[in-house]
Amino acid sequence: MTDECIFCKIIAGELPGEIVDSDERTVAFMDINPATPGHALVVPRAHAADLMEIRDEDLQATIVAARRLARRMEAALEPDGFNILNACRPAAWQTVFHFHLHVIPRYENDPLKLPWIPRGAEEGQIAAVAEKIRAAGA
Ligand code: AMP
Ligand code: ZN
Repeated sequence: MTDECIFCKIIAGELPGEIVDSDERTVAFMDINPATPGHALVVPRAHAADLMEIRDEDLQATIVAARRLARRMEAALEPDGFNILNACRPAAWQTVFHFHLHVIPRYENDPLKLPWIPRGAEEGQIAAVAEKIRAAGA
């Protein structure tokens, strides 16, 4: 728990949250600004700022809990699909620095759009970046 973290406070019951699921390692609650009806967040109980910091066991528990929640939404809301989304660091849109997975039920004709435009790549660019990533491996 960190004193200033709003998600730690929701987990601790010190701030209101519409909790929809929980287990030993995770809590799921409704997003206060839903992208679609049903949009919820799944967080580890143990505070970790982001994807780089979260422990493997908590990450595993959080993705399993996200699928469990998606299955529950499937029964309750009958969506047509789902997006599971994580933002890691401000450059990638992260605004709350307690790791979370967005579980966003999707509906045919809902207003969400793909956030990038597929543009292809310069000749050799994909292979060059792939080589850089491979070279950084253990
Ligand atoms: P991100 O930009 O990926 O860090 O997402 C943070 C999400 O937390 C946003 O979708 C917010 O709407 C949501 N959020 C912020 N404060 C609260 C809160 N008190 N209760 C529920 N959701 C919240
Ligand atoms: Zn926290």
